[in-house]
This record gives sequence, C-alpha cells and structure tokens, in this order.
Amino acid sequence: MRAARRPGIYGGPFLDHDRMTTDFSEIRDAVARLCADFPGRYWRDKDRTREYPKEFVEALSAAGYLAVLIPEQYGGSGLGVGAASAVLEEIHKSGCNGAACHAQMYTMGTLLKHGSETQKQAYLPGIADGKLRLQAFGVTEPTSGTDTTRIRTTAVRDGDVYRVTGQKVFISRTEYSDLMLLLARTTPREQGAKATDGLSVFIVDLRDAVGRGLTIKPIVTMMNHSTTELFFDNLAVPAANLVGVEGKGFGYILDSMNAERILIASECIGDARWFVAKAAAYAKERQVFGRAIGENQGIQFPIARAHVQTEAASLMVRKAAALFDAGEKCGAEANMAKMLAADASKEAGDICIQTHGGYGFAEEYDIERKFRETRLYQVAPVSTNLILSYVGTHVLGMPKSF
Ligand SMILES: Cc1cc2nc3c(=O)[nH]c(=O)nc-3n(C[C@H](O)[C@H](O)[C@H](O)COP(=O)(O)OP(=O)(O)OC[C@H]3O[C@@H](n4cnc5c(N)ncnc54)[C@H](O)[C@@H]3O)c2cc1C
Repeated sequence: MRAARRPGIYGGPFLDHDRMTTDFSEIRDAVARLCADFPGRYWRDKDRTREYPKEFVEALSAAGYLAVLIPEQYGGSGLGVGAASAVLEEIHKSGCNGAACHAQMYTMGTLLKHGSETQKQAYLPGIADGKLRLQAFGVTEPTSGTDTTRIRTTAVRDGDVYRVTGQKVFISRTEYSDLMLLLARTTPREQGAKATDGLSVFIVDLRDAVGRGLTIKPIVTMMNHSTTELFFDNLAVPAANLVGVEGKGFGYILDSMNAERILIASECIGDARWFVAKAAAYAKERQVFGRAIGENQGIQFPIARAHVQTEAASLMVRKAAALFDAGEKCGAEANMAKMLAADASKEAGDICIQTHGGYGFAEEYDIERKFRETRLYQVAPVSTNLILSYVGTHVLGMPKSF
C-alpha cells in the first residue's frame, strides 16, 4: 500500500514514484525536431564569436518549453521537473546547449513558492510567454565563494526601497535577462541565531538598474556562457520586490537549487548520450590497421562503460525529479543526480575525444566544444566536493569539516 503524497511543489499534476518511468516521448520528439534547425555549425559560430544564441532561445520560448514548470493559471504548462528534465536532456542529446536559457525554467520557482500573489500576477505570465526574461540568479561572490552565508552584498531598508551595495561574480545571462533574483544580506551574520538567517531574496529589474547603481562586466570563459561580474553601488530596489519575509531568503533558494541541480543533471545526461552515440558511430566506421577501431576492446569497452554510467546516472535523475514533483524531500537525490550525471558526461566526453583520435580536437566535429561545455558542471552550480560533503554529513551523518 502506498502512503498518500502531497501535490507537486509547482502545483503540477500529482506524480507517483512509478512516474519515474514516464518518458515524455512526445515532448522529446518535438524538442528534437526543433533542435534539428540548430545544427553544429550554428553552435560553432556562436562559440567562436561568443555570441548569445538568441534565435535558439526565441524558438524554445515561442514553443513554450521554457514555461513547462509555470502553472497553467499563470500561462505555463503546469508540468513538473520530470517534463522539464526531458526537454533539457533532449536539447543536449541533440547537440544543442540549454545553458543560455535553462534558468528561465527554474529561477521563477522561488517566486512561485514564496512570492506574494501580486508579485506572481505581475511577473509569471510575462515569464511564461517569454516577454520577461528571468534567467539570472545572483548568489556567488568573489570573497565568499561556495560559503554562501558569508556573502557581503548588503540590502539596507531606506523607506520604500532597499539600497544594495556589493559585488557578485559569475552571474550568468544578466545581459540577456530583464529580471534577476538576488540574494543579499539584510542582517549581519553575527546577529542571526544561525549563519543562514538574515539573507533575503529580491527581484531586481535589470532594465531599471543598469547605470543606476548596477554595473555589469562580462567574464570571458572557456565556453560560450554569457557570465558576468556585477557591481552594486547603492542600487535602489523597491521594498515591494522583496520575496517573502526579510531574512528568510536562504531557505527560499534551496528549493530552486534542487530543481536547478536536477535540470542541470538532465543536461549532462543529454550530453553523455550525445558523446556515447558519436563515439560508438565513429568506432564502427573508422578503419585503422584494416578493421574498424571499435573491434578493439580498448576502444569498445570504455564506450560501453560510459553508456552504463550514463544509464545509471539517468535513473538517479529520474528518481530525484519524481520526488521533487511529488513534493517530497529530494536534497540528497538532487545532489547525487547532479554529481553522477556530471561525472558521466565528463567521462563520456573524454572517451569520445579519445575514440576520435586527432579529430576529437577539431572544431568541426563539435566534440571539443561539447566537452568544454559539459566540464563546467563539475563546478557549477555546485562543485563535486560540496556534493560529497553534503552526502558525507547530511546523508551519512559523518562529522562536518566546515
Ligand atoms: C560559467 C559559470 C557560470 C556560473 N553561473 C552562476 C550564476 O548564474 N549564479 C551564481 O550565483 N553563481 C554562478 N556560478 C558560480 C558557481 O556556482 C561557483 O563558481 C561555484 O559554486 C564554486 O564557487 P567558487 O568558484 O567561488 O569556488 P570556491 O568556493 O573558491 O572553491 C574552489 C574549489 O575548492 C573546493 N572547496 C571549497 N571549499 C571546500 C571544502 N570545504 N572542502 C572541499 N573542497 C572545497 C570547491 O569544490 C572548488 O573546487 C557560475 C560559475 C561559472 C564558472
């Protein structure tokens, strides 16, 4: 007999654990068809010029794929993380890259769960139809790094506004977002009962902010990722843009972070499948010493192993998504899914390069680009060491080291 379960966090349809096996094949087929219009040469050109893939993002928005998690009453599809996962996996399996817009799917989760009805009415319909881009999430800072409770960006109440001062680093897509969700300190760390107290979340309208207290500086990275550094100098943010209760922001962003981890893991699964398929196809076709290189077990077994690891990681991603959609605790599974999937894609990418010999390094094969893109997920949005630390202390109850 099954225990009764709560409805999905996004108000989407009830998802039983058996739904782990749901494949969303119609969504996958439709996404694959859309992606066929954006072949390798599109991504290579964007990568070379470090240009934002605007046309791809617009096509996804127009088709409604970035609004799958938004409830129908606000103009979205009201589906769950399982469906969103299928969308992102398929994008990456098709050789495309969802990094330019994946945050449009999940950043609004904090607003949906903790924002006021007025805020939801004001923003969610626009986010659902793509007219409002909420795809920037400002947490990381240069001095605090992974230790989020030590962020130094402050928001001080001043009448009808909060005045924000500080600096953020590696905040992606701010140049291509209308809104940003910002984490800032409203009470000094020493004054809270817990280190996580006193952090608050704000909706920052970037269209008003740039030049009026906010400066955005692009950071060029090893892949085309549109990430930036932000400088806040007394930026006025309306008090009405505070999400939920002042000082409770850390807890609010955790839900979004679980969704983010599951969805990034799905992208890694898509990448891994792309690498494995590409490697297996080449191993069958490339003739050296008078036979296909795939006949050599030194080539064949690593590809087979990469496939096995990808399938195993995919099961954990599905489990995490099913738990999330059922409104159950999924912190451990979301973290494990992210780690296993990021490891699977990194390994599959490495093997794909090795299988292709010198051609693996040639730009026109797209492998080196995909490899650079997927490498990021060992570090962001949470690094592998921090996941292991979470599992070691929160899941296995071992002593904390920090
Ligand atoms: C391209 C890109 C896009 C990004 N986009 C965003 C974004 O949109 N929004 C945002 O807020 N952030 C973003 N980030 C930031 C990202 O989340 C951080 O880089 C990441 O969380 C690690 O923080 P850090 O770079 O300060 O590394 P640090 O915290 O300085 O860590 C450096 C290394 O030390 C390890 N480490 C640190 N402490 C410990 C410990 N106690 N035990 C063991 N190992 C430890 C880490 O695992 C890491 O490998 C992005 C980063 C990149 C590179």
